[in-house]
Amino acid sequence: DTIGANLDRAVAAWPDREALVDVPTGRRWTYAEFGADVDRLAGALLGSGVRKGDRVGVWAVNCAEWVLVQYATARVGAVMVTVNPAYRPHELAYVLNQSGASLLFASLTHRTSDYRAMVDQVRGECPELREAVYFGDASWDAFLTRTPGEPHPEPLSCDEPVNIQYTSGTTGFPKGATLSHHNILNNGYFVGETIGYSEQDRICIPVPFYHCFGMVMGNLAATSHGACMVIPAPSFDPAATLRAVQEERCTSLYGVPTMFIAELNLPDFATYDLSTLRTGIMAGSPCPVEVMKRVVAEMNMAEVSICYGMTETSPVSTQTRRDDDLERRTGTVGRVLPHVEVKVVDPASGLTVERGEAGELCTRGYGVMLGYWDEPEKTAEAVDPGRWMHTGDLAVMREDGYVQIVGRIKDMIIRGGENVYPREIEEFLHGHAKVADVQVVGVPDERYGEEILACVIPRDPADPPTPEEITAFCRDRLAHYKIPRRVEILAEFPMTVSGKVRKVELRERYAGNQG
Ligand code: ATP
Ligand code: MG
Repeated sequence: DTIGANLDRAVAAWPDREALVDVPTGRRWTYAEFGADVDRLAGALLGSGVRKGDRVGVWAVNCAEWVLVQYATARVGAVMVTVNPAYRPHELAYVLNQSGASLLFASLTHRTSDYRAMVDQVRGECPELREAVYFGDASWDAFLTRTPGEPHPEPLSCDEPVNIQYTSGTTGFPKGATLSHHNILNNGYFVGETIGYSEQDRICIPVPFYHCFGMVMGNLAATSHGACMVIPAPSFDPAATLRAVQEERCTSLYGVPTMFIAELNLPDFATYDLSTLRTGIMAGSPCPVEVMKRVVAEMNMAEVSICYGMTETSPVSTQTRRDDDLERRTGTVGRVLPHVEVKVVDPASGLTVERGEAGELCTRGYGVMLGYWDEPEKTAEAVDPGRWMHTGDLAVMREDGYVQIVGRIKDMIIRGGENVYPREIEEFLHGHAKVADVQVVGVPDERYGEEILACVIPRDPADPPTPEEITAFCRDRLAHYKIPRRVEILAEFPMTVSGKVRKVELRERYAGNQG
């Protein structure tokens, strides 16, 4: 199916159920109203000359208009280019030119960002960009008054591209994964199916829409099961998120691990009524066991699931199941989704390793992207001729078919010839009473090649753990070569806007001064 056809079905099945709530502005749509507004915007797109295959950029924080643009561009066969709202003008210009976008929707302002001023600044460098339209501005109202000549001039196939999504840029410069209707609609559907969504569910989505966590696992999972999308705030705000859960009686809550940590650490955490929650998703980066346990116990999310995926695979490949026990729910990234294949290979030989052994995770199936937009060489490096996506992640497939992510190939530390997976040490240090959050990276060392550095955000900034306390905590409980010899105390980590810690930046920051 195409995304448009799938939405038509939802509108027919659940016309009076709520589809979308934009909490900051108090606006609400039923499925019938949402479908009508999507159609109106689709008409306006056609009326302004957008045709099948044209690229339309969206550079905005979370808001209802973002969602309308997502469905309306899909409906007319355009390719939505999702642009990270944290990008600065030169990054915006790069993705607009790289994708050849002719129309851009953007936020007007958010916090200190003046999007219109930034667009004006790069206008001259983007020859293909014809027009920019700002949400909540007169340009948006004017855009909506345009009408199409004829409703749907060109037939669409579900294998055509609908999105270009740039990867998070955790390990380098973002790449534009090109995804079809078939890719992402199926993924949203199966993620929702695995969670057990129905028209009774209300999903609180504090993760950014520009990334597939928000727009596929959130929006497409919701609309393909008749659930409601709840937008708690334009960008992540822990208190606003819990308030939205309470006031909108949400049944499901999403987040990357750092978001859940921030919510659990709110001074007034205990005052929020989270009794309507049943489930949710934690994904995007390693999910610490201790944090998962607290989410299950203290946030009333007994069925919370962990998903593992990447932009290039639409995104989810493995997910925990509703009836998984706490060990599987907290200690693995679940098992493979229906119609997806995974294998774990020796990166050197390409041969599948034994269950229980670590290797590179490869995935194949309907979710694998069409390719990186206009970058055939990079596509060929990532997707092999057998259509296997090489994820760059190190994983173990257990006997029971559940997968554990042990780290990223690029993050692995080699200390004195021993392979050290930062993930294992982070997991262990989360058990220290004075540690709120921790990242472990390798920094150059003359003697050992690399030395292990723990960057710690203390629970109490007035009483941070000392390096001696950290090493004492690890002694006799971790092999000696895994014990961090250096500790840095930080107030926060450098993050990508999708909420991932930029380890590259931590590595660079501490690489110079050998301790
Ligand atoms: P870039 O490819 O630009 O460096 P990125 O890989 O972070 O950035 P995304 O596609 O957003 O961009 O993220 C996918 C990656 O996130 C995966 O390859 C994996 O390393 C990590 N990841 C996702 N989910 C999980 C999870 N549940 N546990 C551990 N790691 C995860
Ligand atoms: Mg990646």
